[in-house]
Amino acid sequence: ESSAIVIDGKSVAKQIREEIAVEIARMREATGIVPGLAVILVGDRKDSATYVRNKKKACDGVGINSFEVNLPGDTTEQEVLNSITKFNEDPSVHGILVQLPLPKHMNEEKILNAVGIEKDVDGFHPLNIGRLAMRGREPLFVPCTPKGCIELLHRYGIQIKGKKAVVIGRSNIVGMPAALLLQREDATVTIVHSRTNNPEDIIRDADIIISAVGQANMVRGSWIKPGAVIIDVGINPVEDPESPRGYRLVGDVCYEEVVKVASAVTPVPGGVGPMTIAMLLSNTLSSAKRMHNFN
Ligand code: NDP
Repeated sequence: ESSAIVIDGKSVAKQIREEIAVEIARMREATGIVPGLAVILVGDRKDSATYVRNKKKACDGVGINSFEVNLPGDTTEQEVLNSITKFNEDPSVHGILVQLPLPKHMNEEKILNAVGIEKDVDGFHPLNIGRLAMRGREPLFVPCTPKGCIELLHRYGIQIKGKKAVVIGRSNIVGMPAALLLQREDATVTIVHSRTNNPEDIIRDADIIISAVGQANMVRGSWIKPGAVIIDVGINPVEDPESPRGYRLVGDVCYEEVVKVASAVTPVPGGVGPMTIAMLLSNTLSSAKRMHNFN
């Protein structure tokens, strides 16, 4: 019985962070400039607070200055816009990130539009997404999670050009930009979503699958073409009385089944998750380099 290569996102991300740390030191020595990332957190969602804490820790680890603003959940939209303006104008800040989701009373579109595109390290500004979608245009930044998925394929030498790719999910932050990126890499891309009939028949055709749904163990081994490559973005808590927290995290893909059919698969945790933060650091570094004409 064959078994898939396990794509080790944790160790690839570690390697990337080391590469970034070297570049940051080189830039600092040559120019005195230290890249800076500003993170705006609104409200007190525990998961968001954890993500922000992890991002700050990752910045510390590579030598990026981090600036953090915490606003209460009942703050006004104007307060958030004011923070963004302040960071847009601050030359020591090279990247601005608004942690999503925002509280319901806020207009996400208006807030993301306010981030200067040259500091939009999340790549969520419509101009950056629009350029990603257009031929012959270059976005200044690409969203971190899909970028991390593609980086894993590259670092494992997996060819994308000419392959049939299926992306499951079409969210603004993962599924849609992942499909656009695969298309830029010359894959033939199909998008599957909650209204797709018989998704398994489409997924079974794919050489490369990126799943970003948020449903534990949805993609079964029988849905996979033998030898396919699977990038599992999903992070789903499932009850687990054995675990001290009472739950554990699994992907969208039924790992035990697909590992027997696929040629390569990302685990959850330890696959795409660590890559997302590594790409955020990478985007922040390239922003600082671009702003200061440092190569
Ligand atoms: P969203 O909820 O925004 O989007 C989910 C997408 O999946 C939607 O497009 C939805 O379709 C589609 N979908 C839902 N049910 C089905 C189904 N049964 N069959 C096919 N498609 C379905 O989620 P996100 O994109 O934000 O996140 C997806 C997952 O990735 C989550 O588990 C999240 O935790 C994880 N994630 C992980 C990150 C990481 O760093 N590893 C970063 C970001 C997210 P429709 O459009 O029709 O509603």
